Amino acid sequence: MLNSKEFVRELQLRHESAWMNPNVGSAETALAALPLTRADVDDAEARLERFAPFIKKVFPETAADRGLIESPLTEIEHMRAWLNENEGAQLAGKLFLKRDSDLPVAGSVKARGGCYAVLKHTENLALANRLVETRDDYSVFATRAFRDFFSQYELHVGSTGNLGLSIGIMGAALGYRVTVHMSADARQWKKDLLRAKGVTVLEYGADYSYAVQKGRERAAEDPRSYFIDDENSVDLFLGYAVAARRLKAQLAEQNIAVDEEHPLLVYIPCGVGGAPGGICFGLKQEFGDAAHVYFAEPVEAPCMLLGLASGLQNAICVQDIGLTGRTAADGLAVSRPSGFVGETVKAIVSGGFTVSDERLFNDLHALHEMEGLFVEPSACAGFASAVELSKMTDYLESSGLSAHWENAAHIVWATGGALVPEGEREKYLAN
Ligand SMILES: *Cc1c(COP(=O)(O)O)cnc(C)c1O
Repeated sequence: MLNSKEFVRELQLRHESAWMNPNVGSAETALAALPLTRADVDDAEARLERFAPFIKKVFPETAADRGLIESPLTEIEHMRAWLNENEGAQLAGKLFLKRDSDLPVAGSVKARGGCYAVLKHTENLALANRLVETRDDYSVFATRAFRDFFSQYELHVGSTGNLGLSIGIMGAALGYRVTVHMSADARQWKKDLLRAKGVTVLEYGADYSYAVQKGRERAAEDPRSYFIDDENSVDLFLGYAVAARRLKAQLAEQNIAVDEEHPLLVYIPCGVGGAPGGICFGLKQEFGDAAHVYFAEPVEAPCMLLGLASGLQNAICVQDIGLTGRTAADGLAVSRPSGFVGETVKAIVSGGFTVSDERLFNDLHALHEMEGLFVEPSACAGFASAVELSKMTDYLESSGLSAHWENAAHIVWATGGALVPEGEREKYLAN
């Protein structure tokens, strides 16, 4: 096992490597020290319930979940066998895919945090203008009168692609004027799809941090504009955190126990940190010390792990250690992490892994072959993490995981893919 200094050296060398968090402590103590609590997640969950009638009406694909934006949890036994045979994994127990790649509305994990942030702002505006009370039926948000009201307001967001999709699609459905500030990594089809929905897409030849800065500046010029701040947003974070409660119910339905003898190991791709951080926070609240959460990042853009391991959080970026920040995993092409997320997860995240782009594509192919499931490259980062963790015998021993290894449930969080057009899928699969 590497210490934090040795790990940063490995990052500089672009090696696939692992960092196990020396500061992860008892979940109870760590959570008690945070400013966010269960009540904050309760509040987010209740708000999503209030908006469910609206979402069900405007996005009928959510009807089976009563207007909640949710994804299946699928056991992937063939993939587990493939990883054991072909990547030298030692994965016992069960391997699941959390299919946020198939989330309705936006086809990525951003349909949780991004949509929630838009809904929170929308409810604030509606309450302040006495358009609704919280006990009302929120399907009124789908009416012409409400859309006309919200068309006076504008949303701005900086994005590598998927956050823009979630804000643009939900924002446009509510009637807002939306401007998405896209970084150079954003895929053309994502820009095209947004423009087709009437969203303004501004393109910059620079990275994600720059696109965010431009969005923030533009929104500040106009009091009717609201900036969705992915780098610092508590709202996004809480929208993601709700996922853990819903997952708890799904595990119970499938008779999967999670307790001291039945550990839950979760591997989540990480960009700026909001999605994996919020989900990690929610999981630790629900499962405490039985949940072990690992972040996965590309070798060229390991911003969150660099911030955590160096202790510098958002005061360091990947260019400071000579990396480019460029990767085929466009959802993870972020050079500087969220300082807010780093501070929030520093004693609850168990560790993380860096993954080469080549490995992402290998796993993308294998998942398609073995299970008939398609996810985008970013969404594959969790597989290599699960594989590498399973080989770390010293760590598994010292963390107590090896004693219950046969009983473990592993969840690879698949973060995007459903909206990828057929032609693009073929290109990824041919890669
Ligand atoms: C945004 C995104 C992530 C990571 O989320 P962050 O909040 O940026 O850390 C992972 N995978 C995909 C496909 C994404 O779009």
